Amino acid sequence: MNKIYNYPKFRKRLFFLNKSQKWSKYQHEKNQLYNLRKLYNYVKKNVPFYKDYFSGRKNFKIKTLDDLKKFPVIDKNFIKNNYKKFLSVKMKKDNTFSRTTGGSTGNPLTILSDLNFQINDKANTFHYLSIFKKNIKKNKSVRLYGDKIPQQILRKKKYWYKKNQKQLIMSAFHINSSSIKSYVKVLQDFQPEYIHSRSSIMFLMASLILKEQIKFNLKLENIFVDGEYLTFGQRKFIEKIFKCRLINIYGHTEGALVGFNCEFSNKMHFMPQNGIIEILDSKNNNLKKEKSKGIITATGFNNYMMPMIRYKTGDVASIGKKKCKCKRNYFFVDQVEGRLQDYVLDKKSNLIPLAPAIFNYNDMDWKKIENYKVVQYQKGKIIIQVQLYLKTKNEREVLNTISKKLKKILPNFIIKIQKVKKIERNTIGKQRYLDQKIKII
Ligand SMILES: [Zn+2]
Repeated sequence: MNKIYNYPKFRKRLFFLNKSQKWSKYQHEKNQLYNLRKLYNYVKKNVPFYKDYFSGRKNFKIKTLDDLKKFPVIDKNFIKNNYKKFLSVKMKKDNTFSRTTGGSTGNPLTILSDLNFQINDKANTFHYLSIFKKNIKKNKSVRLYGDKIPQQILRKKKYWYKKNQKQLIMSAFHINSSSIKSYVKVLQDFQPEYIHSRSSIMFLMASLILKEQIKFNLKLENIFVDGEYLTFGQRKFIEKIFKCRLINIYGHTEGALVGFNCEFSNKMHFMPQNGIIEILDSKNNNLKKEKSKGIITATGFNNYMMPMIRYKTGDVASIGKKKCKCKRNYFFVDQVEGRLQDYVLDKKSNLIPLAPAIFNYNDMDWKKIENYKVVQYQKGKIIIQVQLYLKTKNEREVLNTISKKLKKILPNFIIKIQKVKKIERNTIGKQRYLDQKIKII
């Protein structure tokens, strides 16, 4: 896998991404139309679901990008229920890569792809790093995810290892108030130029650094986070503690869309080279107006083994202004507000985004808490599981304060605080702060 960047195709793709970021809107649309036609011609022959779908629509032709609307909107459950119908008949077992998405929500979907997809995917990463003048081979970096650390290293109470001179791998599973000092020391000794991680992990580190009043001297230039929702409050707090700019990357595991913050702006810039983004309302109408809010729906050009066409991701986003200082003619989203499963339901079934309430640091004080998780079984009622630090004094007082603050932030809910011994991270190192037991979509 690490050799992917030695393929000529990889270098060609990277060159293409660098060049095409300066394209006009017209050039991008022309390229998207070409890719959509190519994808359509492929799926109607090789992907059973689309073969069936288009067999009764013989006159169907793609003349403009608008014709995408004639494809059915699909979502995770639909694919799961018709799994084999979404796999290309040309898939070869010995050349297939798989990754599983959304395991943390209890609704995992395994995405299969080929080497071509892997090449394009890696090229996307190299591309957005290059915008910030970073290169995985030239600049020192830290990868801080849910990586498994070999037993013989763990035995020495080390939760990290050097992959090579330029890259340090750290595991997020062992970050807590007693280990944070050694994590920071290792970072300081290594002096990375950037960190690749998730927002919840960086937020946890920043909170512990503040709580333990750790002094450190890092010359970080950027922190790249992906795979999770990032609130304004989280961003501000992480940037303040680590004294560098945070770059948020949108690349859901299904791999159909890639978005990033640019040199100038924290808006999400969706790359037209990889696919088509649509923002759909609950009735699957296409939203176009600035500030309108809907669900990110993805059509990906890179995965022919398991194509995603009009795939409703469940991520809620609001449409941004059409222009950016960087002059890229991309699709802009002001904020990815969260996933549908990140919402709680009040008594009247209104969807309330949970993250802004619990992550905005000014309103909510989690300093005295090691970890927490919100669980909802019933409308209008939420349970907050709280893991306190080992040596917490005045437990009751701490819990009461949280309870009072949360009741102010979420007045329409009955809130129950539950003390627990430990809150587990799941296997991919993502920690879901909400365990939504009510089926929302
Ligand atoms: Zn920009």
